[in-house]
Amino acid sequence: MILAVLALCVFIFYLPLKHRKKTIVESLPLPDSYKTILLADVLFYRNLSDEKKLEFETRMMHFLATTRITGIKTEVEETDKVYIAASAIIPIFGFPHWEYINLHEVLLYPDSFNHKFEQSGEGRNVLGMVGDGALNNVMVLSKHEVRQGFINKTGKENTAIHEFVHLVDKTDGSTDGVPSFFVDKQYVLPWVQQIHKEIKRIFDNKSDINPYGTTNEAEFFAVVSEYFFERPDLLKSKHPELYELLTKIFHQQPDMRNKK
Ligand SMILES: [Zn+2]
Repeated sequence: MILAVLALCVFIFYLPLKHRKKTIVESLPLPDSYKTILLADVLFYRNLSDEKKLEFETRMMHFLATTRITGIKTEVEETDKVYIAASAIIPIFGFPHWEYINLHEVLLYPDSFNHKFEQSGEGRNVLGMVGDGALNNVMVLSKHEVRQGFINKTGKENTAIHEFVHLVDKTDGSTDGVPSFFVDKQYVLPWVQQIHKEIKRIFDNKSDINPYGTTNEAEFFAVVSEYFFERPDLLKSKHPELYELLTKIFHQQPDMRNKK
């Protein structure tokens, strides 16, 4: 009996502590140079109200204070820090207290790499990756790709957002295209049905969604989330049902009209 009470106490006290660990860190205010980069290149941020911009900045700085970004044969510049932190906050912005407890470090490679993280030789087609096994809690990104996602202002693709969406998806224990912590139960079935309907449309050449989304449900979720955050208005007009479900999943309406 005593043991059971003790176990319960450990459970009650240890669990919230573990989840709170990251919040103790003091974050610095956003440097002006970061703001200049955000205003120039991050459309999502530009479309926020002044109040929301401030919230976004605080959460970005908190992310940077609690997550190490390490350059592997490349320098981590201010631009990279801003782009990576913005990509981290964009998918979770609708959840004010959400933190990436499953991420400690981002490794930045200069360009693409293969599945063994080699930067030369065959099969260097990996642009971003959420680590597993020994690399649990680590994300690997290609500097070139991270930058492309923000330099290209009309694209529907953004590798860093893609990887952070995988991380959100992975938080419930399975990377399966259904982020259980985000999706209310009532939307799970419609969401899974929508995934399969749209994957079929991609196979039939009737969709403008990146065909990489047909790989599996997790890749579909990551790919369509890039589209949702990069070109919300276009997604809303071309795929209204998908757009609506994504607003329910992410608790956000990133199309411009709703931000004013
Ligand atoms: Zn992926």
